[in-house]
Amino acid sequence: MTSNHSSHESIKPVIIVHGGAWSIPDSLKLRHLNGVTKAVKAGYQILVEHGSALDAVERAVVCMEEDPIFDAGVGSFLNEEGYVELDALIMDGNTLNAGAIGAVSNCRNPIILARMLLEEDNSPIMLVGQGADKFAEKMKINTDPKDLIIPREQKRWEKGNKGEDIFSPNTSGTVGAVALDEKGHLASATSTGGSPYKMVGRLGDSPIIGSGGYASEVAAVSSTGHGESFMKLNAAKLATDLIEQGYPPQDAAKAVIEKISDINGYGGIITVDRLGRIGYFFSTTRMAYAYISKEGKLVSGIDM
Ligand code: ASP
Repeated sequence: MTSNHSSHESIKPVIIVHGGAWSIPDSLKLRHLNGVTKAVKAGYQILVEHGSALDAVERAVVCMEEDPIFDAGVGSFLNEEGYVELDALIMDGNTLNAGAIGAVSNCRNPIILARMLLEEDNSPIMLVGQGADKFAEKMKINTDPKDLIIPREQKRWEKGNKGEDIFSPNTSGTVGAVALDEKGHLASATSTGGSPYKMVGRLGDSPIIGSGGYASEVAAVSSTGHGESFMKLNAAKLATDLIEQGYPPQDAAKAVIEKISDINGYGGIITVDRLGRIGYFFSTTRMAYAYISKEGKLVSGIDM
Protein backbone atom coordinates (compact mmCIF):
# COMPACT_ATOMS: atom_id res chain seq x y z
CA MET A 1 0.00 0.00 0.00
CA THR A 2 1.42 3.39 -0.95
CA SER A 3 1.64 6.18 1.59
CA ASN A 4 -0.63 8.15 -0.70
CA HIS A 5 -3.28 5.50 -0.41
CA SER A 6 -3.10 5.25 3.37
CA SER A 7 -3.46 9.02 3.71
CA HIS A 8 -6.63 8.83 1.60
CA GLU A 9 -8.02 6.14 3.84
CA SER A 10 -8.28 8.56 6.72
CA ILE A 11 -10.72 10.81 4.84
CA LYS A 12 -14.31 9.91 5.52
CA PRO A 13 -16.77 10.79 2.74
CA VAL A 14 -19.62 13.21 3.30
CA ILE A 15 -22.62 14.27 1.21
CA ILE A 16 -25.47 16.75 1.65
CA VAL A 17 -28.41 17.36 -0.69
CA HIS A 18 -31.31 19.83 -0.91
CA GLY A 19 -34.65 19.76 -2.69
CA GLY A 20 -35.50 23.46 -2.94
CA ALA A 21 -36.28 26.24 -0.48
CA TRP A 22 -39.93 27.30 -0.20
CA SER A 23 -42.98 27.02 2.05
CA ILE A 24 -43.43 23.27 1.56
CA PRO A 25 -46.93 22.39 2.88
CA ASP A 26 -47.32 19.69 5.55
CA SER A 27 -49.13 17.51 3.01
CA LEU A 28 -45.95 17.32 0.87
CA LYS A 29 -43.46 17.05 3.72
CA LEU A 30 -43.05 13.29 3.67
CA ARG A 31 -42.56 13.06 -0.08
CA HIS A 32 -39.83 15.71 0.09
CA LEU A 33 -38.10 13.98 2.98
CA ASN A 34 -38.29 10.63 1.20
CA GLY A 35 -36.94 12.20 -2.00
CA VAL A 36 -33.88 13.80 -0.42
CA THR A 37 -33.19 10.73 1.73
CA LYS A 38 -33.23 8.40 -1.26
CA ALA A 39 -30.92 10.77 -3.15
CA VAL A 40 -28.40 11.19 -0.34
CA LYS A 41 -28.20 7.41 0.13
CA ALA A 42 -27.64 6.86 -3.60
CA GLY A 43 -24.81 9.41 -3.65
CA TYR A 44 -23.26 8.04 -0.46
CA GLN A 45 -23.27 4.51 -1.87
CA ILE A 46 -20.89 5.70 -4.59
CA LEU A 47 -18.63 7.36 -2.01
CA VAL A 48 -18.35 4.29 0.22
CA GLU A 49 -17.51 2.20 -2.82
CA HIS A 50 -14.48 4.51 -3.30
CA GLY A 51 -16.18 6.52 -6.06
CA SER A 52 -15.61 10.21 -6.73
CA ALA A 53 -17.47 13.17 -5.28
CA LEU A 54 -18.30 14.12 -8.87
CA ASP A 55 -20.03 10.78 -9.52
CA ALA A 56 -21.78 10.95 -6.14
CA VAL A 57 -23.32 14.41 -6.66
CA GLU A 58 -24.38 13.51 -10.20
CA ARG A 59 -26.07 10.32 -8.95
CA ALA A 60 -27.85 12.12 -6.11
CA VAL A 61 -29.16 14.81 -8.45
CA VAL A 62 -30.30 12.25 -11.05
CA CYS A 63 -32.34 10.61 -8.28
CA MET A 64 -34.12 13.88 -7.57
CA GLU A 65 -34.55 14.75 -11.28
CA GLU A 66 -36.37 11.42 -11.57
CA ASP A 67 -38.68 12.26 -8.65
CA PRO A 68 -41.56 14.46 -9.90
CA ILE A 69 -42.04 16.00 -6.45
CA PHE A 70 -39.08 18.26 -7.31
CA ASP A 71 -38.77 21.07 -9.86
CA ALA A 72 -36.03 19.32 -11.84
CA GLY A 73 -36.11 16.89 -14.74
CA VAL A 74 -39.56 15.31 -15.07
CA GLY A 75 -42.14 17.41 -13.22
CA SER A 76 -40.40 20.74 -13.72
CA PHE A 77 -42.28 24.02 -14.02
CA LEU A 78 -43.32 25.03 -17.54
CA ASN A 79 -42.33 28.34 -19.10
CA GLU A 80 -44.86 30.90 -20.38
CA GLU A 81 -45.19 28.98 -23.65
CA GLY A 82 -45.96 25.70 -21.89
CA TYR A 83 -42.77 23.64 -22.17
CA VAL A 84 -39.81 23.00 -19.87
CA GLU A 85 -36.46 24.77 -20.08
CA LEU A 86 -34.10 23.08 -17.66
CA ASP A 87 -30.83 24.35 -16.16
CA ALA A 88 -28.03 22.34 -14.54
CA LEU A 89 -24.46 22.74 -13.38
CA ILE A 90 -21.85 20.26 -12.20
CA MET A 91 -18.40 21.27 -10.96
CA ASP A 92 -15.30 19.38 -9.90
CA GLY A 93 -13.48 21.21 -7.11
CA ASN A 94 -10.24 19.36 -7.74
CA THR A 95 -9.81 20.56 -11.33
CA LEU A 96 -12.31 23.44 -11.48
CA ASN A 97 -13.75 21.70 -14.54
CA ALA A 98 -17.43 22.34 -14.98
CA GLY A 99 -20.34 21.57 -17.27
CA ALA A 100 -23.33 23.90 -17.43
CA ILE A 101 -26.56 23.46 -19.37
CA GLY A 102 -29.11 26.25 -19.74
CA ALA A 103 -32.69 26.15 -21.00
CA VAL A 104 -32.53 22.64 -22.45
CA SER A 105 -36.00 21.45 -23.40
CA ASN A 106 -35.50 17.89 -24.63
CA CYS A 107 -33.52 16.22 -21.86
CA ARG A 108 -34.82 14.27 -18.88
CA ASN A 109 -31.57 14.50 -16.89
CA PRO A 110 -29.82 17.79 -17.59
CA ILE A 111 -27.25 16.98 -14.89
CA ILE A 112 -26.10 13.98 -16.97
CA LEU A 113 -25.85 16.26 -19.99
CA ALA A 114 -23.84 18.78 -17.93
CA ARG A 115 -21.51 15.97 -16.83
CA MET A 116 -21.09 14.87 -20.46
CA LEU A 117 -20.13 18.43 -21.36
CA LEU A 118 -17.62 18.51 -18.50
CA GLU A 119 -16.05 15.30 -19.82
CA GLU A 120 -15.87 16.40 -23.49
CA ASP A 121 -12.42 17.42 -24.71
CA ASN A 122 -12.01 20.99 -25.93
CA SER A 123 -15.68 21.77 -25.33
CA PRO A 124 -17.25 24.93 -23.98
CA ILE A 125 -18.19 24.98 -20.30
CA MET A 126 -21.77 26.09 -20.96
CA LEU A 127 -24.34 25.31 -23.63
CA VAL A 128 -27.79 26.91 -23.75
CA GLY A 129 -31.06 26.68 -25.65
CA GLN A 130 -30.85 25.16 -29.14
CA GLY A 131 -27.20 24.29 -28.61
CA ALA A 132 -28.02 22.35 -25.45
CA ASP A 133 -30.89 20.56 -27.23
CA LYS A 134 -28.53 19.62 -30.08
CA PHE A 135 -25.93 18.35 -27.62
CA ALA A 136 -28.59 16.14 -25.96
CA GLU A 137 -29.36 14.72 -29.42
CA LYS A 138 -25.66 14.20 -30.17
CA MET A 139 -25.19 12.36 -26.86
CA LYS A 140 -28.38 10.37 -27.53
CA ILE A 141 -30.07 11.36 -24.29
CA ASN A 142 -32.77 13.51 -25.89
CA THR A 143 -36.45 12.90 -25.32
CA ASP A 144 -39.74 14.28 -26.58
CA PRO A 145 -40.28 17.54 -24.62
CA LYS A 146 -43.91 16.45 -24.00
CA ASP A 147 -42.64 13.52 -21.92
CA LEU A 148 -41.23 15.97 -19.37
CA ILE A 149 -44.65 17.50 -18.62
CA ILE A 150 -46.75 16.05 -15.80
CA PRO A 151 -50.47 16.85 -15.19
CA ARG A 152 -49.71 18.91 -12.04
CA GLU A 153 -47.53 21.28 -14.05
CA GLN A 154 -49.89 21.36 -17.04
CA LYS A 155 -52.63 22.52 -14.62
CA ARG A 156 -50.34 25.11 -13.04
CA TRP A 157 -49.50 26.44 -16.49
CA GLU A 158 -53.17 26.61 -17.49
CA LYS A 159 -53.91 28.65 -14.35
CA GLY A 160 -51.00 30.95 -15.10
CA ASN A 161 -52.16 31.31 -18.69
CA LYS A 162 -55.58 32.46 -17.47
CA GLY A 163 -53.85 35.11 -15.37
CA GLU A 164 -54.56 33.32 -12.08
CA ASP A 165 -52.04 33.55 -9.26
CA ILE A 166 -49.49 30.73 -9.37
CA PHE A 167 -46.77 32.57 -7.50
CA SER A 168 -48.01 32.58 -3.92
CA PRO A 169 -46.86 30.85 -1.95
CA ASN A 170 -43.51 30.97 -3.69
CA THR A 171 -42.81 27.52 -4.92
CA SER A 172 -39.58 25.75 -5.82
CA GLY A 173 -38.01 22.32 -5.93
CA THR A 174 -34.57 22.96 -7.39
CA VAL A 175 -32.27 20.15 -6.35
CA GLY A 176 -28.60 20.12 -5.43
CA ALA A 177 -25.86 18.03 -3.90
CA VAL A 178 -22.33 18.64 -2.62
CA ALA A 179 -19.86 15.96 -1.51
CA LEU A 180 -16.38 15.17 -0.26
CA ASP A 181 -14.82 11.87 -1.36
CA GLU A 182 -12.16 9.77 0.31
CA LYS A 183 -9.47 11.31 -1.90
CA GLY A 184 -10.35 14.67 -0.38
CA HIS A 185 -11.96 15.96 -3.58
CA LEU A 186 -15.10 18.09 -3.53
CA ALA A 187 -17.89 18.46 -6.09
CA SER A 188 -21.17 20.30 -6.56
CA ALA A 189 -24.26 19.62 -8.71
CA THR A 190 -27.49 21.61 -9.12
CA SER A 191 -30.51 21.06 -11.40
CA THR A 192 -33.75 22.98 -11.84
CA GLY A 193 -36.78 23.76 -13.94
CA GLY A 194 -36.40 27.37 -12.79
CA SER A 195 -39.46 29.37 -11.86
CA PRO A 196 -43.09 28.73 -12.94
CA TYR A 197 -44.33 30.49 -16.09
CA LYS A 198 -40.89 32.04 -16.65
CA MET A 199 -40.10 33.98 -19.80
CA VAL A 200 -38.76 31.88 -22.63
CA GLY A 201 -34.96 31.96 -22.40
CA ARG A 202 -34.87 33.04 -18.75
CA LEU A 203 -31.79 31.57 -17.09
CA GLY A 204 -31.72 31.45 -13.33
CA ASP A 205 -28.71 31.17 -11.08
CA SER A 206 -28.59 27.38 -11.09
CA PRO A 207 -26.42 26.86 -14.21
CA ILE A 208 -24.23 29.90 -13.52
CA ILE A 209 -20.82 28.98 -12.09
CA GLY A 210 -20.45 30.80 -8.78
CA SER A 211 -24.17 31.53 -8.39
CA GLY A 212 -26.10 28.23 -8.37
CA GLY A 213 -23.08 26.18 -7.46
CA TYR A 214 -19.35 26.18 -7.00
CA ALA A 215 -16.59 23.77 -6.00
CA SER A 216 -12.93 24.36 -5.20
CA GLU A 217 -10.24 22.40 -3.38
CA VAL A 218 -11.56 23.88 -0.15
CA ALA A 219 -15.36 23.86 -0.39
CA ALA A 220 -18.40 22.90 -2.48
CA VAL A 221 -21.71 24.75 -2.52
CA SER A 222 -25.17 24.45 -4.11
CA SER A 223 -27.93 27.03 -3.85
CA THR A 224 -31.65 27.41 -4.40
CA GLY A 225 -34.07 30.29 -4.22
CA HIS A 226 -34.66 33.57 -5.98
CA GLY A 227 -32.15 33.13 -8.77
CA GLU A 228 -31.84 36.78 -9.72
CA SER A 229 -30.67 37.57 -6.15
CA PHE A 230 -28.21 34.67 -6.07
CA MET A 231 -26.74 35.88 -9.36
CA LYS A 232 -26.33 39.44 -8.08
CA LEU A 233 -24.21 38.21 -5.17
CA ASN A 234 -22.45 35.28 -6.86
CA ALA A 235 -23.78 33.48 -3.83
CA ALA A 236 -22.12 30.08 -4.24
CA LYS A 237 -18.69 31.59 -4.86
CA LEU A 238 -19.24 33.97 -1.97
CA ALA A 239 -19.90 31.03 0.36
CA THR A 240 -16.80 29.25 -1.00
CA ASP A 241 -14.67 32.35 -0.44
CA LEU A 242 -15.92 32.73 3.13
CA ILE A 243 -15.02 29.09 3.85
CA GLU A 244 -11.58 29.64 2.28
CA GLN A 245 -11.19 32.62 4.61
CA GLY A 246 -11.86 30.39 7.61
CA TYR A 247 -15.62 30.46 8.13
CA PRO A 248 -17.02 27.07 9.17
CA PRO A 249 -19.41 25.90 6.40
CA GLN A 250 -22.47 26.47 8.61
CA ASP A 251 -21.47 30.09 9.32
CA ALA A 252 -20.73 30.69 5.64
CA ALA A 253 -24.17 29.34 4.64
CA LYS A 254 -25.87 31.60 7.18
CA ALA A 255 -23.84 34.68 6.22
CA VAL A 256 -24.67 34.29 2.52
CA ILE A 257 -28.40 33.79 3.09
CA GLU A 258 -28.41 36.87 5.35
CA LYS A 259 -26.84 38.85 2.50
CA ILE A 260 -29.50 37.48 0.13
CA SER A 261 -32.17 38.70 2.59
CA ASP A 262 -30.48 42.12 2.70
CA ILE A 263 -31.20 42.54 -1.01
CA ASN A 264 -34.78 41.25 -0.54
CA GLY A 265 -34.02 37.82 -1.95
CA TYR A 266 -34.74 34.46 -0.35
CA GLY A 267 -33.55 30.90 -0.59
CA GLY A 268 -31.24 28.28 0.82
CA ILE A 269 -27.75 26.94 0.44
CA ILE A 270 -25.78 23.80 1.30
CA THR A 271 -22.03 23.67 1.91
CA VAL A 272 -19.27 21.17 2.65
CA ASP A 273 -15.57 21.76 3.19
CA ARG A 274 -12.49 19.61 2.75
CA LEU A 275 -12.59 18.66 6.44
CA GLY A 276 -16.02 17.13 5.85
CA ARG A 277 -17.86 19.78 7.83
CA ILE A 278 -21.27 20.57 6.38
CA GLY A 279 -23.56 23.56 6.53
CA TYR A 280 -27.08 24.45 5.44
CA PHE A 281 -29.21 27.51 5.91
CA PHE A 282 -32.40 28.90 4.42
CA SER A 283 -34.58 31.97 4.82
CA THR A 284 -37.74 30.35 3.47
CA THR A 285 -40.15 28.52 5.77
CA ARG A 286 -38.73 25.19 4.70
CA MET A 287 -36.07 23.42 2.64
CA ALA A 288 -35.84 19.64 2.42
CA TYR A 289 -32.28 18.49 3.08
CA ALA A 290 -30.47 15.30 3.97
CA TYR A 291 -26.86 14.55 4.74
CA ILE A 292 -24.61 11.69 5.73
CA SER A 293 -21.85 12.86 8.03
CA LYS A 294 -18.21 11.76 8.43
CA GLU A 295 -19.46 9.38 11.09
CA GLY A 296 -21.85 7.79 8.58
CA LYS A 297 -24.91 9.22 10.33
CA LEU A 298 -27.92 9.98 8.11
CA VAL A 299 -29.87 13.12 9.02
CA SER A 300 -32.81 14.57 7.10
CA GLY A 301 -35.03 17.53 7.82
CA ILE A 302 -37.21 20.23 6.40
CA ASP A 303 -37.31 22.99 9.06
CA MET A 304 -34.38 25.27 9.99
N1 ASP B 1 -32.84 29.24 -8.20
C1 ASP B 1 -33.78 28.70 -9.15
C2 ASP B 1 -33.91 29.65 -10.30
O1 ASP B 1 -33.94 30.83 -10.08
C3 ASP B 1 -35.12 28.44 -8.59
C4 ASP B 1 -35.16 27.91 -7.18
O2 ASP B 1 -34.17 27.39 -6.70
O3 ASP B 1 -36.21 28.04 -6.55
O4 ASP B 1 -34.06 29.21 -11.40
